[in-house]
Amino acid sequence: MNSTMLSGKTALVTGSTSGIGLGIARALAAQGANIVFNGFGDAAQIEQLHTGVAKEFGVRTAYSGADMSKPEQIEEMMRMAAAQFGGVDILVNNAGIQHVSNVEDFPVEKWDAIIAINLTSAFHTTRLALPWMKQKNWGRIVNLASVHGLVGSAGKSAYVAAKHGLVGFTKVTALENAHSGVTCNAICPGWVLTPLVQKQVDDRAARDGIPMEAAKKALLAEKQPSGEFVTPEELGALAVFFCSPAADQVRGVAWNMDGGWAAQ
Ligand code: NAD
Repeated sequence: MNSTMLSGKTALVTGSTSGIGLGIARALAAQGANIVFNGFGDAAQIEQLHTGVAKEFGVRTAYSGADMSKPEQIEEMMRMAAAQFGGVDILVNNAGIQHVSNVEDFPVEKWDAIIAINLTSAFHTTRLALPWMKQKNWGRIVNLASVHGLVGSAGKSAYVAAKHGLVGFTKVTALENAHSGVTCNAICPGWVLTPLVQKQVDDRAARDGIPMEAAKKALLAEKQPSGEFVTPEELGALAVFFCSPAADQVRGVAWNMDGGWAAQ
């Protein structure tokens, strides 16, 4: 549904070339927001993706290939957003990776990369976006944490640590800006069938020698009481709610959309 609720606003969505980030970028564009896309992938496909969204929703879009583990590239991306859009009104910290391994076998470079991309990048984008938001006395920061920001999971030490850290960072950012029009909240999804989770489905199918559909059902049965995957569209709708006037007093929450996972 197209609307003009976010017309004239600019949203930067990190990791928006795929999965959840793309779903959120599309949902914000459908409300009239201009979008700065970010993430990796085939250059021609990304060009098609962001110009396609611009055309579909009648908004302006741009793309930055900044690597979220590199602070100097994040700064360059923010300079581009300032030059093209005058700053960022809505910041969605979504870029993320994960790796599964027991603590004693966890490759140190993978630990560092997961913390840098899933957590530290949000510190850099937030510290750079806040001055623009405070100047306008309006801003929305939405951090893609995870149900793993609320509960643990064996084998995901770096991911769980980063996501718990992001939930904590969300609360502090919300509190430091509580007397302004800048809000900060986190979204905690359960399983969403994106490339990130497809790898776990593939690993499970290979490990147990079962078809992919059976591996999907097994993953859901173990953790997600609804028995269904959350969708990027549903997460996009929640991000839009956080950006709406109805959410002016929603501050520092970590909102599950996890089919009941964390309620168990
Ligand atoms: P995805 O793999 O489909 O997308 C990840 C995006 O991040 C891609 O656009 C990718 O190019 C980008 N990216 C990866 N490394 C990057 C880097 N160094 N710099 C810039 N961009 C980079 O994953 P997804 O499932 O859509 O996950 C999005 C977010 O949601 C992540 O933070 C993830 O932890 C979180 N999440 C996902 C699930 C799930 O079930 N899929 C559940 C909970 C939370």
